[in-house]
Formats: sequence, structure tokens, C-alpha cells
Amino acid sequence: MPMPQPRPTILSIEPYVGGESKIPGVNRIVKLSSNEGAFGVPPGAQAAYKAAAGELHRYPDGHATALREAIGARFGLDPARIVCGNGSDELIAHLILAYGGEGTELVMSAHGFVMYDITGRYAGCRVIKVPERNLTADVDAMLAAVGPRTRLVFLANPNNPTGSMLPAAEVARLRAGLPEDVLLVIDAAYAEYVTRPDYDPGVALVDAGTNTVMTRTFSKVFGLGGVRLGWCYAPAPVVDILNRVRGPFNVNAPAMAAGIAALAEPGWVEKSVAHNSEWRETLSGALRGLGITVHPSEGNFILADFGTAERASAADAALKARGLIVRAMGAYSLPQALRITIGTAEECRMVQEALAGFVQGAPAGG
Ligand SMILES: *Cc1c(COP(=O)(O)O)cnc(C)c1O
Repeated sequence: MPMPQPRPTILSIEPYVGGESKIPGVNRIVKLSSNEGAFGVPPGAQAAYKAAAGELHRYPDGHATALREAIGARFGLDPARIVCGNGSDELIAHLILAYGGEGTELVMSAHGFVMYDITGRYAGCRVIKVPERNLTADVDAMLAAVGPRTRLVFLANPNNPTGSMLPAAEVARLRAGLPEDVLLVIDAAYAEYVTRPDYDPGVALVDAGTNTVMTRTFSKVFGLGGVRLGWCYAPAPVVDILNRVRGPFNVNAPAMAAGIAALAEPGWVEKSVAHNSEWRETLSGALRGLGITVHPSEGNFILADFGTAERASAADAALKARGLIVRAMGAYSLPQALRITIGTAEECRMVQEALAGFVQGAPAGG
């Protein structure tokens, strides 16, 4: 029987596998698998979300004006150059569908964020994954991979899941080496967490021309992954394109209310970042002390390398036995590694203790 068929390239897409949130038979679980902020939802954002309930019969403001103004004020950006989305994933998808498509190429680093690959294939792009150095994007190799069909280059900075980061000068060198008509998308989902002084989320590069976009999210430090809220800062011509293709009401009203309140939460980002910096270092050091390789991270997560896929899945099982859910990395071709979100101090200690028990029970090579 004939049946409707998608475009053939669609079948090359592996469905996105999110972080797990349940372990059968375990009541108290600690979810460290999706890089959600350590401190939950900002209290003001919860209140604003609830207060929006009485107005749910109204369509939201399709221009997200109040939210764009709040973002602009917070980050010192022109609200006219901001576009909000149902998570930054939505904006990434619109950029790829609008600027890519059949017959074009999208360039990303080998372990770059998986949504570029998924949506690139959806759009019909040939997705080129460029080898990295020390799990870090390699600017020379990325430039060498760019050809006449390349329309889009994606850089997550810092990158998920590796935690690695390119300094501002390297990102500028990437931009300078790309043809003017190639769109560079800098995904700065973890910008707030970066402590290295040579970092820049990309605003200056956006301002310098018409071919660079910076995306940001409310899903990480602002603790609002559940409402789906992201934004981008883009040159005026790209803003114009996004406003043509996005849904007219792509950001819902309670999400906008929660986002505005999260931006206004006193001390929230400072507290979250200070906690993250402390525990990212403490947990990394503790795991290294156990003989586990931990890659340097500028995000709110660490990538722990157990040497082999078998050992990583044994470590995963040891964590799960204590109710700790982290992220297996097979989908990123890093089956020997686990990505662990920096949770509360107690949660970090639980990870440390579980892995200490694991290493003692199963010494490397033993
Ligand atoms: C979490 C994450 C995002 C955020 O996606 P949202 O759709 O805004 O929740 C974007 N890029 C990277 C690299 C991420 O890790």
C-alpha cells in the first residue's frame, strides 16, 4: 500500500533524546542531566507566571515588546534587534530553514550542540562536522571546511556537551575568515557561567556587520527551561527575516511574564554564577582526584571521561543506583563520557561520593 513519505533526508535524523528524569523503582531522584540551573525557578518568575493565569484567554503580544525591552535594558542592547522565541531552539531552527536548505552546507564542530545537526538535516542541508582539538572547536579546520555552498556556520560558545570555549579573538578570527555571505550563529546559551576573562558572547561581532547572530536562552541560568524562552540579537536584515518566518505568537504570555520577572530577580544571576564557579571547580577537582579525566568547562556542567564506554556506563549505573541521573553521551559520539550538571552543594557531594564508591569498587583497568 502506498503511504505518505517524508523527504528522504528526514529519515537520517535520529530523534533528540533529552535528559532522563526517572529511574524505575527509585523515589528520590536528582536530575543532573539537562543543565537546568541549580536553584530552580526564580521566586519572582513563579509569581509572575501564576499571575498570568487570569489572562490566558488573551493572545500574547506577538512582538514580545515588554520582554524585548527588558532584555535590552538588562544587556545594553537595542530591543529592535532582539527576536524572542519558544526556546532558542526555535530561533536556531528558523535561521537554518531560512538561510540553509537543499543544496547548501551547514558547518559545525564535531561535538557541537546536536540541534544544529537535527535541524540542518530537516532543512535539507549537508551538515559538515569538523574535527576538534582537545574537544574544542578548531577555527582553522572550520574555515577549511567552508566551501561555496556553505550558508551557515554554528558555534556553541561555550559548547554543550564539551564545556569548551573559544576566546573572543578566536571567534573574531573565525568571523574574519568566513565569506561575508555566510551567516555565523554564536550560541551563547551558557554565557553567564563563563569565568574566563578572554570570553565574549558575540555582541560586538553582531554589531560589526550583517552576518553574525548571537542566541541566548532563559533555560539555563534563569531557571525557565519549562516555559521555553530564548532570544537572539541579530543585524536588522536578519531580524526582518525572522519576523517573517516565525509564528505570529511564538512566545506565550506566561513565558514572557516569567522571563521579565526572572531578569528582575535581585541577585539571581550573581548567586547562581558564584555557586557554579565554586562547585564546578570543586567537583572537577574531586573527580580528578579519583583518577577520572574531567575536561575544563565554562558551563554549568562538566564532562567526565571514563576512558571506555563500558566504564562510563558502569559509572552511570553506580550513579543511578543512588538516584543520580546524569547524561550519557553516546548521541554525541562520546560514549566514554558522562555529562554532569552542577547541582546544589548537596547534589554535587552526592555525585562525588557515588563516584568515589564506584572507583573503589571498580578500579581503572581492574
Ligand atoms: C540548552 C541549550 C540551548 C537552549 O535551548 P532552549 O531551546 O533555549 O531551551 C541552546 N544551545 C545550547 C548549546 C544548549 O546547551
